[in-house]
Amino acid sequence: MVNKNIIAIDGPAGAGKGTLTKRLCDYYGFSGLDTGSLYRAITLCMIEMEHDMDNINLEFAIELTRKLSDTHKILEYAKNPQIRSQLTNKYVASVAKIPEIRAIMREYQISFGTNPPDLPDGRPARGAIIEGRDIGTVICPNAPVKFFITASPETRASRRLKQYIDQGETANYQDVLASIIARDEADRTRATSPMKQAEDAILIDTSLNDKEQTFQVAKKVINERLKIILE
Ligand code: C5P
Repeated sequence: MVNKNIIAIDGPAGAGKGTLTKRLCDYYGFSGLDTGSLYRAITLCMIEMEHDMDNINLEFAIELTRKLSDTHKILEYAKNPQIRSQLTNKYVASVAKIPEIRAIMREYQISFGTNPPDLPDGRPARGAIIEGRDIGTVICPNAPVKFFITASPETRASRRLKQYIDQGETANYQDVLASIIARDEADRTRATSPMKQAEDAILIDTSLNDKEQTFQVAKKVINERLKIILE
């Protein structure tokens, strides 16, 4: 049966999409897909192959994406912590703006939404949560629940800085802030599937809310829109 319980979560880097997705997946028994990790996985693979990231060879990048996707190797790369390094951050938006790469990833994401994988404990998923930049607008425009999660660039930069330090990387606040602003701009202004709040998405600003408040706001909307019976 085709899954109809789809929640689309979009928003810029560091806004708290991942934290909310995880919490909602645990609570409702949904499978979650972090689509940023897919673009990051492709980018990391290209970096590891010593591809010239300042002059991306389109044919090579498209062929590689197809291979990574067909063999599901993309999921192995997506588990590598290096996908969150500053180097990957620097190049991911240039990879993600390539229309042919997005087309391959679109199929991948739609198939996850309509047929979400079982949960890690083996139970079948009750639905899917897909998070990214264009989920509510392009990938799942008919999703019954859509959120756009945002926060000020300064709040997001402080969160990212903490992540880098926790990962053992050296970083400074001004560089992280500049990189966040540059990536927002690249994601918002690209021609194909730019980051955009869907008209019917609910906006949540996590600079004003803590994690629990954000979860409660989202839960209320989901309970109203999806009929999910929790044991
Ligand atoms: O969400 P995250 O910050 O991990 O995403 C990394 C990058 O991947 C984004 O800056 C964006 O360029 C790209 N991305 C995208 N479309 C998505 C998810 C991520 O273009 N659906």
